[in-house]
Amino acid sequence: MTTIFTESKMTELVRLMSRAKSIVITSHKSPDGDSMGCSLGLFHFLLKQGYPVTVCHPDMAPSFLHWMPGSEHIVLLESEPEKAKKLLENADLIFCLDYHHPSRTGKMEELLVASKAGKIIIDHHRDPDQEFATLLFSDITASSTSQLIYDFIEALDRLDLIDEKSGTCIYTGLVTDTGSFRFSATSARTHHIAGDLINRGIKTWQVHENLFDTNSLNKLKMVSYALLEKLVILPEYKTAYIWLTRKEEERFQVIKGDTEGLVNQVLSIEGIRLAGFFKEADQIIKISFRSKGEIPANQLCKMHFEGGGHLNASGGKYVGKIEDAVQKFVTILPNFVEENKALFE
Ligand code: 5GP
Ligand code: MN
Repeated sequence: MTTIFTESKMTELVRLMSRAKSIVITSHKSPDGDSMGCSLGLFHFLLKQGYPVTVCHPDMAPSFLHWMPGSEHIVLLESEPEKAKKLLENADLIFCLDYHHPSRTGKMEELLVASKAGKIIIDHHRDPDQEFATLLFSDITASSTSQLIYDFIEALDRLDLIDEKSGTCIYTGLVTDTGSFRFSATSARTHHIAGDLINRGIKTWQVHENLFDTNSLNKLKMVSYALLEKLVILPEYKTAYIWLTRKEEERFQVIKGDTEGLVNQVLSIEGIRLAGFFKEADQIIKISFRSKGEIPANQLCKMHFEGGGHLNASGGKYVGKIEDAVQKFVTILPNFVEENKALFE
């Protein structure tokens, strides 16, 4: 197996880690299962060896991830700005996990850029920011950054230190970023790691239950409403999308994370190869795309919605009214489909 954790880079990293009086683990804004999984997986692994380590995230994860071990210790820039600011200012070493560019951390960006700490990027997104990173560990073929944290621990030859806490977090990242081992980035390696974590005693069934069997009735009603009343199918473009206004979200008392899986459900419709979801967020319209096969959902976001991401899962934004965001999508769609005609067959 080729590894991004080469001996020379690892020697340098171990040197930086051993000198550091304060290590801070950061990840992107709007945390997901992988950003939580890699942050907390690394946190528990380092803590077990006595490293002075703290996790600091831009904002809070959705509640379906709050059960994750260590979640309660995360310092949030959003709710404890002074504490987070001090942490980042005084850090000697900052791990930048699951993001390729500091702009993905929202308001944390300026603090990260200003910090004199060494920055260690470990990530699986395209086009990592080489200049920002002191050491860069990038593998865009990895299913998740959590998978890379396992690789990192293996490169240190300390898999023996993986315990229920770190293992559960890493497994959560694998599951959530692969759509439960379904997406194309799921490799033999991903399954090997999952198998090894099972051998180490991780209760994988419990992780699945915590992630997927904790829906509120309100969420299920919102999903039903969205599919029944708001689903738009464009059969000639093998595309479908849903958009929800803030008012509609309020009607179902939607909380953070509730709308997350909706776009995947849209993609699950037979014959649909591109799925979109639009919602009203603070100041902007937040857009998500999912695609099948080789259809570049990330290009769609990069070209038209100030975003990016992975081939099959991307996100972006639109400044203006939600109706206009949807209209823009419908307008650019025919060209996008034409340009990628073979991929839509
Ligand atoms: P989601 O639809 O779950 O918000 O995002 C899916 C994926 O798209 C994320 O894993 C991330 O890689 C990417 N993504 C989401 N929002 C943005 C954005 O604003 N900018 C960029 N560059 N990527 C994004
Ligand atoms: Mn990820």
